[in-house]
This record gives sequence, C-alpha cells and structure tokens, in this order.
Amino acid sequence: MIIGIDLGTTNSLVAVWKDGRAQLVPNGLGETLTPSCVSVDKDGSILVGKAARERLQTHPENTASVFKRFMGSDKKVSLAKKEFRAEELSAFVLKSLKADAEAFLGEPVTEAVITVPAYFSDAQRKATRTAGLLAGLKVDRLLNEPTAAALAYGMHQIGSECRFLVFDLGGGTFDVSILELFEGVMEVRASAGDNFLGGEDITNAIVDLFFQRKELSANLRNNAMFMQRLGASAESAKRALSLGQTAQVQIQLDGKDLAMDIEEASLEKICAPLLKRLREPVERALRDTNLRSNQLDSIVLAGGATRMPLVKRLVTLMFGRFPANDINPDEVVAMGAAVQAGLKMKDSALEEVVMTDVSPYSLGVEVSINLADGKTASGHFSPIIERNSTVPISRVSQYFPVVDKQTRLALEIYQGESRLVKDNIHLGSLELPLEPLARADNGVDVRFTYDVNGLLEVQATIVKTQKTHRLVIQGNPGLLSDDEIQQRFIELEKIKMHPRDTMEIRTLLARADRIYQQLRGDVRAWLGAQISEFEQVIENQNPRQIIPAQKSFSDMLTSIESDSHLHSNFDPQPN
Ligand code: AMP
Repeated sequence: MIIGIDLGTTNSLVAVWKDGRAQLVPNGLGETLTPSCVSVDKDGSILVGKAARERLQTHPENTASVFKRFMGSDKKVSLAKKEFRAEELSAFVLKSLKADAEAFLGEPVTEAVITVPAYFSDAQRKATRTAGLLAGLKVDRLLNEPTAAALAYGMHQIGSECRFLVFDLGGGTFDVSILELFEGVMEVRASAGDNFLGGEDITNAIVDLFFQRKELSANLRNNAMFMQRLGASAESAKRALSLGQTAQVQIQLDGKDLAMDIEEASLEKICAPLLKRLREPVERALRDTNLRSNQLDSIVLAGGATRMPLVKRLVTLMFGRFPANDINPDEVVAMGAAVQAGLKMKDSALEEVVMTDVSPYSLGVEVSINLADGKTASGHFSPIIERNSTVPISRVSQYFPVVDKQTRLALEIYQGESRLVKDNIHLGSLELPLEPLARADNGVDVRFTYDVNGLLEVQATIVKTQKTHRLVIQGNPGLLSDDEIQQRFIELEKIKMHPRDTMEIRTLLARADRIYQQLRGDVRAWLGAQISEFEQVIENQNPRQIIPAQKSFSDMLTSIESDSHLHSNFDPQPN
C-alpha cells in the first residue's frame, strides 16, 4: 500500500487512495492535522504531534518544531542530550503518520508519496527522501506541493493544454506556483514566494490591534500565559471572520472582562500591508513565465489562510475570476499526494501524468565586472541557468580572464539570486590552467547541465585549445551517504515511539503540565493534586474509570485556561 503525505512545517497530514477516492487518515487523537513536533518523553520514547507541541513550552530542551526549515543542511538539534538532524526528526513524524495509516487501513504500509515545496533545492529533496527511508518508507518520487494541489482538483484529467496558478498561503509561508499541463505532462513552470508571510501574521495583527487599548501595558507582552490566551482568542476571532461579518476577541485580566469587537472590514484594513505583500510573488511568477493573468485557466487555493474571505476576495480581484476552492485548502496537498499514490498503485491511467521540474534557483559563476573608473570589482554573480528553467537543461556562456597572460582561472560555482556571490551559496570550484595569451584570445566556454536528478555538471572548454575540464556537483556536504543512512536507520529503530493507543492521555497530561508551569500558588498546588489523581486512575487501568476521568480532566483544564479568578496567580515572568 502506498500512502500520500503532506510533510508540513507546522502540521503534517496523511491520506490514502481507498474505495476509488482520496481519504484523509485520522491520527491517534482522531484528528487529521498532526503538528510537526517531536519530543523525547521522560522514559526516552518519542512523542509526535499535539503532545509534543504542548511540551515545546514545558520541555523546550527535549522538544523540536519547524525542522522542515533546515532540511538539507547539516544542522543538528539536541533533544534529551542526543543530536538529531532534520531528516531524523521528520522521520519520527513520518513513522507516526505511517502508524496512523496502518491502523486506518489494517495493513502494513511500505511506500509513500511525500510532498515538498516546489522551490525545495536538490539537497532539501534528497533529505526528504532520506527521512522517508529512515521511517521505513520507500519514496520513489517526491511530489511538488502545487502539483499535488492540482492533482487533488483532477487537473491531470483535463486532457488538453491548460495553465494554472496555485496560491498557497499557510501559517508562516506563502508560495505561488504556475503549472502547465501539456500533452499529459504536468510541469511547474515557475515558483515564487515569501518565507515570512502567512496566516500567523494576520493573527498577530489582531493581537497588535488589541494592544492599542489603554488598559493594556506593553509589559503584558512578557506574560506568556496571557499572550498565549490572547493569541488563541485572536486566532478564533480570525477563524470566525471566515464564516461571519463580526467576531469578538475576549480575554480576562485581573478579574475584568476585556472584549474587542472586530469586523471583517476592519480586519481587512489592518491587514492591508500584509495583503499588499501577496502581490509581489504572484507578479514574479507571471513575469518568469511570460504569462498574463488572463492566460491562466484556473487559480487553485491551498493553505489554511486562504479560507479567509478577504484573501479569496483579493485573489478574485487580482485575477479577475473566482478561484477553485471546493477542497479544504489545508487538506488539498495531502489529498493530491493520495491521488498520486493511487495512480502509482494502478500504474495505468496515472502513469500518463509525467511531472517535470524546474531548477528552483539560478546557477552561475563568480565574475569581475569593469567599473566606470577603469577598475574591476570581483565577487559578482553571473547566472548561467536562470531560476525556474525547466530541467533537464544545458546552457553555455563565455568568460575571459581578467588580465593578459593570466595562467590560471578559478571558476567558482554558485546558486542563488543575489548580485554578489557572498550572498549566494557556494557549490564548488574548478581550476583551469590557461596559456599565457592576451585576455581577448583566452575565452572559456562554461557549460552548465542540470539534470532531473538535480546533478549539475560544469564543463569548461578553453576555446583556443579546445581542452575541456569537468566537474559534477552532486548533492551537498550536508547530506548523509547511503552507509550513514543505513547506520542511522538502525539507531532510530532502537528508539521507541510512544504507543499510539495512549496518545490521547499523554497529550492531556502534556497539556496539564504546560498549564501547571504557567500557574503559581494555591491554584498550581491544586492542579498538581488533580494531575496526580488522574495519573492514579490511569495506573489502575480500569477503562470504566479512565474514560469519564479523562473527560472531566480535559473539561477542568479547559475551564482553568479560561477562568478569570486565576489571573492573579498567573506567572508574570516570561517562561
Ligand atoms: P496551513 O499551514 O495550511 O495548515 O495553514 C495554517 C494557517 O491557516 C494558520 O495561520 C491558520 O490560522 C489558518 N487557518 C486555518 N483555518 C482557518 C480559517 N477557517 N480561517 C482563517 N484562517 C484559517
């Protein structure tokens, strides 16, 4: 059985192709969104999801989140004194999703289609595949997130030529991709985005608006519990405004109710600067593909924040037509991954959809440029393969030495979009011996060939002698070798995952711990006693007692989190 996985920065989802359709799989808590958080529990077992997210505050030294951001690098995070790479942390999330799918399907799962952002570099893709291997999942092919969104909408079945744009606004990132379907080939023609723009910024804008009230001092921003509750209230107001015209942000402070009514129109006003920033990546993607918005056949929405009517309106205005949004935008990528998994299993109709990629970054060499005063300035970047070129691709440019009779030329290869190489990523060097000729007679043809597997081959031919020097840039020093992957796989197998069937209780206890740490005095002592009592019920292992105790313990935590008389006991110190 092959499953489809949306391995997200904040949340991950798994879906399967079952009974002729894509279906989302619930986790041990019965939810379809699993926070991409990992924590090492006190018994050394690994917690994934909501329980781990609760522990971000109580056990930051044992908990990790947002590790998708450093996929493909050799950065390590230390958890409970052990070091983990992003691939390994992602592998825990994948293992947990795999277990959910196995429980849902009642059969073992050995293979997955995993989605990645279209702009993911080769190193980031390889690291994602490694994460799959470490979780015991074969990953034949990674699927671009926008392509997945298109598959979920059945764009691959349209048959003829079509072009569409995927507008993906998540919690913290904004990605725009333009895709083209031509004679059964689906191609990402361009991708652009903003890594620091998402729904969380809109929630923060509501929080900032609330702080304009006179009775709130800026100091309150240091009160972790207050900020968390205000953030939660702003988040629910934002979600309520996706359904109605008005909502209320409510919070209690020192026994007093503070409330702020907010209308959709005023939310739109405070978000204007954020909404403005959505335009630039759209324009860049259109520019890169040489397309006008009216040449697009369809606009597809993805990412939870596109549920907001003000975002939908903006998209409608930007493109002069309504976007497609019949599928929940936060589920569309996982659903598309399941479609791809289904196609792969049937391997007939679906095989007809060939997907090609683009090089997500420009690739080029360092050059010196001539200045107006006759001097030269080194350290400049000359792109040879431009960003968003379809791969495989081969391009050649000619370069000359800086001075006459120069006897060697060091070709420094970079990836990136910046004017100066110091701001781009260095990929490798190629040393060329030159004949001591006049510079104009000493040209070098530099050919870059970038293939579908993400291998860049650099060929430099000295024009005069026709001598060619080659360099293949493979992967990245931050990646694991096959032997290392095997070794880590064995190590990870030794680490126990927390049992799925007790996840609900474990999550509840993690939540109780978080609330306990944020309280002081009598209330804290009282909650401590309640926790011990609940733990005792669990230890007795009597299901007739556990189920009602679980419900009342959960209700009690909810009431503590919203209870006014506890405010004087909130710890005013940031934690
Ligand atoms: P994603 O990364 O796709 O899961 O998107 C998460 C973002 O979507 C968060 O900022 C959420 O606040 C936002 N979001 C989810 N549901 C809604 C909703 N109904 N209305 C407004 N924003 C939402």
